[in-house]
Amino acid sequence: MRKLLLGKCGELALKGLNRRNFEDQLLKNIRNQLKGLLKSVSIHQSAIYIEPEEDADFYEMLEKAKNVFGLKSVSVVYQTEKDMDTIKADALTLLKDKLNGKSFKVEAKRADKTFPLNSPAICRELGGFLHDNIENVTVNVQNPDIQVMVEVREKGAYIYFEKEECHGGLPVGTGGRGVLLLSGGIDSPVAGFMMAKRGLKLEAVHFYSYPYTSERAKQKVISLARIIAKYTGPYRLHIVPFTDIQLAIGEKCREDMMTLVMRRFMMKISERVAQNNNCGALVTGESLGQVASQTIEGLQVTNSAVGIPVFRPLIGMDKTEITEISRKMEAFETSILPYEDCCTVFTPKHPKLHPRVKDVIFEEQKLDMDAMIEEAVQNIERVHISAEDL
Ligand code: ATP
Ligand code: MG
Repeated sequence: MRKLLLGKCGELALKGLNRRNFEDQLLKNIRNQLKGLLKSVSIHQSAIYIEPEEDADFYEMLEKAKNVFGLKSVSVVYQTEKDMDTIKADALTLLKDKLNGKSFKVEAKRADKTFPLNSPAICRELGGFLHDNIENVTVNVQNPDIQVMVEVREKGAYIYFEKEECHGGLPVGTGGRGVLLLSGGIDSPVAGFMMAKRGLKLEAVHFYSYPYTSERAKQKVISLARIIAKYTGPYRLHIVPFTDIQLAIGEKCREDMMTLVMRRFMMKISERVAQNNNCGALVTGESLGQVASQTIEGLQVTNSAVGIPVFRPLIGMDKTEITEISRKMEAFETSILPYEDCCTVFTPKHPKLHPRVKDVIFEEQKLDMDAMIEEAVQNIERVHISAEDL
């Protein structure tokens, strides 16, 4: 018997003629995210065969495979021959001790229709055989202690007992490229996770106002970026020095419009990063009504600063739902570390809730916006982000 991982892909199956591209990207992402652990990976009829490197740690493989978008589930499986007697003998070897004193049920799937027994017949034969050959064991179809799964496929029969659910979605890289505006908060890492799950390949940008925000706040953002990289693979974080822009806004613009002007700067600089890195969209963690700048009018003000689409996957979600995903992606504990963000340092007491675009533009025209943006873009610091540095 050979031990390997068997993955299943979800939505890919629906992709018609494009399917090949999606599958190729999925295999490439599995290869990258499980680097050093696998010998080969291949796909056949929506089943993915992940062969381990010698002595590979299956637990580690499973944990990493679970984070590859496009996979619906993954299992540690034992491959055996497509022959009922061999299946029975191998199942018995695997289950002899495991089933003692337990209840079980067999579930079978015959993907290879040339196999002489159909699924119910496989269940009956194997179930009966295990029941007769293991002491102290009962069959329980409703609520078994152990489910024995058997799949008969092209290259062999696969026996396994557990199925780990993955995140589903589409393989990163099949949905184009976008720039994530990454703060140190709860929302933007979740927004990045959600868009990557739809196949978007990310670059990230962070605005940083040293010394108003500390080196530790910057490290926190880098940590969050690395957590996202567990799901996306490596990418780049563009750290933009933002202090001069914020100070100039504070000095020249009406206080109630400061945040809006600042957010338009962020959008425009991010759009520049997008242009320079072949990205076609921006991603933010905004959610309708969550803070003053996230009213319809506020969003209109930020949208109109740029010409490319702005994806806001959290727009209709409330904080509980966002927090749930933040925990699921294991970002929450880092997101709630108490370091300040540049937005909170320069917050007006009474921000304008229903701004008009032309009033905000009037304020920003008090500044030499183009030159300031150019200066910020010239001084961007680029950090290579990889989950391996976590
Ligand atoms: P988050 O929890 O992501 O910080 P938030 O609820 O605090 O979001 P805002 O501070 O209004 O909301 O920011 C809205 C969005 O703008 C963020 O989700 C993020 O995409 C972007 N953003 C805010 N601050 C920064 C920053 N310093 N660098 C990069 N992007 C930022
Ligand atoms: Mg924030």
